[in-house]
Amino acid sequence: MPEPAKPALGTSASDELFSRALRVIPGGVNSPVRAFKSVGGTPYFVERAEGAYVWDVDGNRYVDFVQSYGASILGHAHPGVVEAVSRAASRGTSYGAPTRSEVLLAEEISARVPGADMVRLVNSGTEATMSALRVARAATGRDRVVTFAGCYHGHSDGLLASGGSGVATLGLASSAGVTKAAVSDTVVAPYNTVPVLDELVAAVIVEPVAANMGLVAPVPGFLEGLRSECDRVGALLIFDEVITGFRLAYGGASEVTGVAPDLWCFGKVIGGGLPLAAFAGSRDLMEHLAPVGPVYQAGTLSGNPLATAAGLAVLAALDRDVYDELALRVGRFAGQLADVAGPGVQVPVYRTLLGVFFGEAPVADFTGATMSASTGRYPALMHGLLDRGVAIAPGAYEVMFPSLAHSEDDYERAVEAFSGALE
Ligand SMILES: *Cc1c(COP(=O)(O)O)cnc(C)c1O
Repeated sequence: MPEPAKPALGTSASDELFSRALRVIPGGVNSPVRAFKSVGGTPYFVERAEGAYVWDVDGNRYVDFVQSYGASILGHAHPGVVEAVSRAASRGTSYGAPTRSEVLLAEEISARVPGADMVRLVNSGTEATMSALRVARAATGRDRVVTFAGCYHGHSDGLLASGGSGVATLGLASSAGVTKAAVSDTVVAPYNTVPVLDELVAAVIVEPVAANMGLVAPVPGFLEGLRSECDRVGALLIFDEVITGFRLAYGGASEVTGVAPDLWCFGKVIGGGLPLAAFAGSRDLMEHLAPVGPVYQAGTLSGNPLATAAGLAVLAALDRDVYDELALRVGRFAGQLADVAGPGVQVPVYRTLLGVFFGEAPVADFTGATMSASTGRYPALMHGLLDRGVAIAPGAYEVMFPSLAHSEDDYERAVEAFSGALE
C-alpha cells in the first residue's frame, strides 16, 4: 500500500478537535477505523445527522453511506426512534430489573427468525459472539472454534486470531496483548471453502454474507456445506448476523440463504444506533445460560430500556416489503456505480448491501479482498467522494450501508460523485 497522506492538521473545526482528541484519546478515536489511518487525512467530526445525511462540525453535509457501520437502517434520527428513546429516557435510563420492552424485543426477534426460540440481550456484537461461543463450548463439551479469514466477530481475545474490519485494515494478523493460549483453540480457515471438521470442534462461526472484508457473498454450497459438516461431527453452527440480521431481509441471512444455524448473533440494526446486541437459539441451547444453566453471562446495562425502545421502534418500521424495496434500489444503485466505474472496478451487491473492489478477478475470500485493497485505490476514492459530499467508510474492507432514508436524489448524487472521484 502506498504511504497514506500525512494528516494535514489545518484550521477546520474537525482538525482542531482531532488534535485535541489526539492528546486525550489514543489515536483520537474510540474505534480504530474512524481515525482515517488507512486512507490518510483527518476524520470529519460529526455535529449531527438526519436521514441520509451527516453534517460535520464545519457545516459540511455528506450523503452518508456509513450509517454507523450499519447500525442505522432507517436513516439517522428517525422520528419513531427519537420519540421512543426520549419517551424511554423520561421514565429512567436503567433499572437493574427486568422490563416489558425486553420481553417485547425478544419476542419480536424470535418471531422473525424461525429457530431463534430464546434470545439474550447484550450491549455489543463483541459480547454476542463471545457469549454464543461460550454456550457452544458448554453445550458440546468441546473447545475448538473454527472461524474464517476476513470475517470479523468483534474483539474478544479468542476471536482475534485474525480478522477483517479494523484488524485487517491495519494489516495485523491478530492483536498484541492476546495470549497464545487465548487463540490456541481458534482455527482460521479460508472463506467460501468448507473445512473438514473433526470431533474436537465445538462450533463454526461465520458471517453468512461476509461484510468485513468488503462484500463477499457465500458461494453456492458453502453455507449448506458448513451445515452438513457441523452436523456430521456434532459441532454447532453460529451465524454472526451482526451486520446481516434484519438488514438483508425480514428474517436476516438465514431466511435469504435457506440455511439455519444453531445460534445467531445480532447487533447493529437491532439497536437502532444504541448499544444493543443479542444472541439466540433453541431453548435447549440457550438454557445452558445462567440462571438456568451453568454458563455465566451478565450485564449491568443489558436490555437497557433506551436501547430496547430503539430496537422495537426500528423493527416496527421494518416489514417484509421494505426489504424488497431497499434491495431493488440498492441493486439499481450498484448497477449504476458499476457503469460509471468501468473495468477494473467491481461493485458487488447482495440484496441491501454493496461494496467496492478494485481489480478484475472476482473476490471470494480474504486473499482476493486483500489484493483489491493492496491496489491502494480505495483511499483516493474515499477522499474523492468526501470532497464531493458523499461519505463512505474510511477503510477498504468496509461495505456501504444504504438506508431507507436515501432518496433517488441521494443515489444520483452518489453516482455522479463516484464518477468524478474515479477520474
Ligand atoms: C460490528 C461487528 C461485530 C462487533 O460488534 P460490536 O458491536 O462492534 O462489538 C461482530 N460481528 C460482525 C459481523 C460485525 O460486523
